[in-house]
Amino acid sequence: MNTSIPTSDLISLIDKLHTEQTLSRSEWTALISGRTPELSEYLFPLARQEQQKYYGTDIYVRGLIEFTNYCRNDCLYCGIRKSNKNVHRYRLTEEEILTCCREGYDLGFRTFVLQGGEDGWFTDDKMITLIRTIRQRYPDCAITLSVGEKSRETYQAFFDAGADRYLLRHETCNYQHYGMLHPASLSAAHRQQCLRYLKEIGYQVGTGFMVGSPYQTAEHLAEDMLFMKELNPQMIGIGPFIPHHDTPFAGEPAGTLELTLFLLGLIRLMIPRVLLPSTTALGTIHPRGRELGILAGANVVMPNLSPTSVRKDYLLYDNKICTGDESAQCRRCLETRMQSIGYRVVTARGDSLN
Ligand code: SAH
Repeated sequence: MNTSIPTSDLISLIDKLHTEQTLSRSEWTALISGRTPELSEYLFPLARQEQQKYYGTDIYVRGLIEFTNYCRNDCLYCGIRKSNKNVHRYRLTEEEILTCCREGYDLGFRTFVLQGGEDGWFTDDKMITLIRTIRQRYPDCAITLSVGEKSRETYQAFFDAGADRYLLRHETCNYQHYGMLHPASLSAAHRQQCLRYLKEIGYQVGTGFMVGSPYQTAEHLAEDMLFMKELNPQMIGIGPFIPHHDTPFAGEPAGTLELTLFLLGLIRLMIPRVLLPSTTALGTIHPRGRELGILAGANVVMPNLSPTSVRKDYLLYDNKICTGDESAQCRRCLETRMQSIGYRVVTARGDSLN
């Protein structure tokens, strides 16, 4: 950590961010690399104040349905990358997915997130039928997709079928850094283009990145902040990178709790109305990670609705929590956790005010 900049100057940067909701590239870099526990203590109450100004103490829940772990991509960090031959691959049937939705609805979920690898078996036609069916059965629910990079036409067709939101983390804005995390067949430029298509079509868009991914620097994070400020998404998902034992990054260190929380707080001040999940990855690196995420400015949690039988197979990283629990258990557990810090889980679509 950089100690050359006096704390009072860094406090001034937080104040500036709070009032102007933006910083320059060099200011972002200085603030991120100069962070201290003292600065975090200054930042988090401000972040909570902003969060509560718009969302009160309500915490939105999203029911995550991990419907396929087949993937044609080979992202170096991801446990379900194509070349990992040790993964037991699965696909849920349409009926199984609809059962997850039914269970979720009965538990009070009003957003379903369909997440998966980029699996060609789920053709556009199959996805459209599925989206239409969920839309018809649950007109009061939001349908969020997280199925990677598609053509503009496909995104449009999914939207027309009834999907309202799309999660596609940009992963890292810097082209060179992106190249170190992905095979040559994938590019940062294309991923960012996808995000622009999604916004143009009218989706509520979520982007984000892993904190502490291999080779990541404070300058990269500064670029990520600027990129997100410009994109102005409705949702931002960040969580620590966690190594998976069957990937090229098996021996890399995980991202830290401390940096993830600091960035959550900064994001809340940068885009005050954004929806900001306290992620499962955060809960994986610390037993109270998700609670601490909320206290740093997050306001969404995304418990798992996938059938217990497949949960251990959707392992993007090692030691993922909640892989043995029923959906109802996850829901109750989170309710208790949120109550313990003075927040409450609500039954609502939870649309973004941004
Ligand atoms: N195929 C979809 C869904 C990807 S999984 C897509 O391309 O968008 C969702 C997110 O999990 C990824 O965007 C990535 O940021 C995160 N992730 C993957 N591997 C991870 C790891 N080892 N540690 C932490 N997060 C990881």
